[in-house]
Amino acid sequence: MRIFSRFLPKKKPVEIKNNIPKEKAIIKKRFAIYCHKHHGTGGDKLCPKCQGLLMTVLTKISRCPYGITKPTCDRCERPCFGEAKTKEFLTIMHTGGTRMLFTHPIMTVRQKLMDMGYDYAKYQQEKKASDKAKAKEKGKDKEKK
Ligand SMILES: [Zn+2]
Repeated sequence: MRIFSRFLPKKKPVEIKNNIPKEKAIIKKRFAIYCHKHHGTGGDKLCPKCQGLLMTVLTKISRCPYGITKPTCDRCERPCFGEAKTKEFLTIMHTGGTRMLFTHPIMTVRQKLMDMGYDYAKYQQEKKASDKAKAKEKGKDKEKK
């Protein structure tokens, strides 16, 4: 190594974080939670169908054209599992919201806040609409006051 070191650039190349092992671990967890809940499996075991899908997903991740800079598969614009499998994958990744709280509290809280923001905006919109309707109905009363 030392012999070659002088031929290498002195500056260390920027390290790109490899999140793939982490993502794989998360996916495995999500699959386990989903399969245990919906297919009655337990422990480290998955039903054959989920196991098959998981294997496909893990293999595809390793061969991802984006390499280690890849987005997470559930956010990828063109996931490579095929349409039907991608659908199943997303279902598995996005169900079981309450259990998520224990595994990824920050993500869940963020999601909750986003949902709450959405609900609140919707509530305000509906309230405005109903207030307008009420104002119309009571328009005559207000004129009297
Ligand atoms: Zn299953």
